[in-house]
Amino acid sequence: MHWIGLSNNRPGVPYPFPVSNIVQGFADMEYPMMANDSHMPDPTIQRFVAEHEIAHTWFPFYMGINEHRYGFMDEGWTTAFENLIGQVDLGEEQAAEFFKQFRVANWVRNPGDETQMPIIIPANVLSGQGLGINEYGKPALAYLGLKDMLGDDLFRKCLHGFMTAELQNIRSP
Ligand SMILES: [Zn+2]
Repeated sequence: MHWIGLSNNRPGVPYPFPVSNIVQGFADMEYPMMANDSHMPDPTIQRFVAEHEIAHTWFPFYMGINEHRYGFMDEGWTTAFENLIGQVDLGEEQAAEFFKQFRVANWVRNPGDETQMPIIIPANVLSGQGLGINEYGKPALAYLGLKDMLGDDLFRKCLHGFMTAELQNIRSP
């Protein structure tokens, strides 16, 4: 089954703000209710980047995750959602190509070098390529692998269980 839109796909939680704005500026940066993306000549890549920034609405903003410390739950989840919504919006072949090109190719060919570190290492003590690997492609691949192992329905149920438990933990410490 294919769900259109991040609210109905993954994470599958309604968009929590009244509006969203995407501007062609210069930063490729997300904010609550806004994405400031650089201009890209390829409209498909522009859309791909915009979907990534909008996916940040849930991780970290909605969840309140410390993005500087837990990058694997900020960029990692967002990159997984970017792939899942891309499969529906851009097509499975294009989504797979972008994932390989932008999220995997830069680190998968060097499995033994010093940039390969456990994902759990806090992002605020990493830098350079090791930081990027641990924040984007590697955790996203783990989340997508988990989805493949659990199946769509159980993955969705577990994701929502995690999100609900985390929100209760944040709101009732
Ligand atoms: Zn991002």
